[in-house]
Amino acid sequence: MTEKTLWVAIIGAGPAGYYTAEALTKHNDKALVKVRVDIMDCLPTPFGLIRAGVAPDHQSIKNVTRRYENTNLRDDVRFVGNIALGRDISVQEVSELYDAVVLATGAAKDRPLGVGGESLNGVIGSGAFVSWYNSHPDFRDLAPDLTVPAVTVIGNGNVAVDVARVLAKTAHEMETSDLAGHAARAIHSSPIRDIYIVGRRGPLEASFTPKEMGEFNELENCIALVNPDHLPDENDAAIMDALTGQQKKNMVHLRKMAENRPEQKPVRLHLMFYHRPVKILGEQRVCGIQLEKTRVESNGKCIGTGKIETLPTGLVVPCIGYKTSPIPDIPYDDQAGRFTNEDGFIAPGLYCVGWARRGPSGTIGTNKPDGIGIAAKILTSVTASGKQGRIGLDALAAERGLKLVTFQDWKKIEAAEIAAASGDHPRAKFSSVDDMVEVVS
Ligand code: NAP
Repeated sequence: MTEKTLWVAIIGAGPAGYYTAEALTKHNDKALVKVRVDIMDCLPTPFGLIRAGVAPDHQSIKNVTRRYENTNLRDDVRFVGNIALGRDISVQEVSELYDAVVLATGAAKDRPLGVGGESLNGVIGSGAFVSWYNSHPDFRDLAPDLTVPAVTVIGNGNVAVDVARVLAKTAHEMETSDLAGHAARAIHSSPIRDIYIVGRRGPLEASFTPKEMGEFNELENCIALVNPDHLPDENDAAIMDALTGQQKKNMVHLRKMAENRPEQKPVRLHLMFYHRPVKILGEQRVCGIQLEKTRVESNGKCIGTGKIETLPTGLVVPCIGYKTSPIPDIPYDDQAGRFTNEDGFIAPGLYCVGWARRGPSGTIGTNKPDGIGIAAKILTSVTASGKQGRIGLDALAAERGLKLVTFQDWKKIEAAEIAAASGDHPRAKFSSVDDMVEVVS
């Protein structure tokens, strides 16, 4: 009797894709129907946000890729890089080749801020800015003008904290990072002296986490400053007792900052709570930003007070969340910024997982139960129907002259990046697809 195969295509080789592949193949040894997974990515490199989103100075977080490598070393899982859905192959074609298709495409599009002046030069969303300093090929030519004395980062999440910290750290502090060479040159020669992190609500409503906040108190050249009036009253037992563990730890770091003085270090990081952007100023380029003071009501809602102040600033980086990129013919919820789905189910044989399913929230680990859930759905509702799977994909790729990149190819790219690194840098990342493909040709 010939072995039956359930072919699954996962689109997007980030954490959600890998956790799904791991869960789908976990019981293959005992299963009558073997699941075989192709994880496709538009880039020649796997690991999605781990490579292009996680901050370059947070190398320990990137160690999770070892787990994904183990999944990739199985013969029932294959990484297929350098193939883009919509560009090289259509959703319909993938659906014809595989029994199930899982969209694990993340959320790479910046949400608009919705204020005047947003399209001025010098307003760059965090999706683009983070991708630029992380060597993502699509953003290598972004060339943000950092020859400015002040930068404004909008948002009170960990992305805002990452962006501000990467701008604030010295070359010395980044010597064990894999910051893109083009970004290192721009950042470390920049005259930036003031970095503002603007939160529309208060410190108790902020979503940044204590470990990340605490790093601001350890910077070599940059002093973090907070208006003490923006912190909750330590003597108010009702407030203090109601704080969560995360809020309490954040307060410890913020109180320390409230005692700092601007002249202590050459660069200042201003944590500005209770301010929301109302207009970005400038003719062609950003020269300032108008902020409205806010207050937060007991239901957590932020209300404008009508008091406006202007910050001179040469760069604005909104870090206010992301949207999944729509794909033609796939139902899309524009308001939520993700595919329309019911617990990951989009249509028979078509699923989504991770940020493409639930929106841009949670940690890397949150994608694990997500992947397990989608795998369970597929294993209980999709049957092996004799589709061609990877044989069909390879034939189609050959016909179209696509240069697919395998996991073994990726290991060559990775080895070249490690070999090119100088000093204590873990790797010097390629930022061009052509350069990567050349390594494996
Ligand atoms: P986030 O945590 O949701 O923060 C978004 C911030 O933007 C919030 O402070 C939000 O304020 C603000 N915002 C939204 N719309 C706004 C507007 N129109 N005007 C002004 N402010 C606005 O999202 P994120 O920072 O993009 O992070 C995404 C996910 O990745 C999170 O789960 C995060 O924890 C994770 N992440 C983790 C790490 C890490 O662990 N080191 C690093 C980076 C990212 P409101 O609260 O008032 O809506």
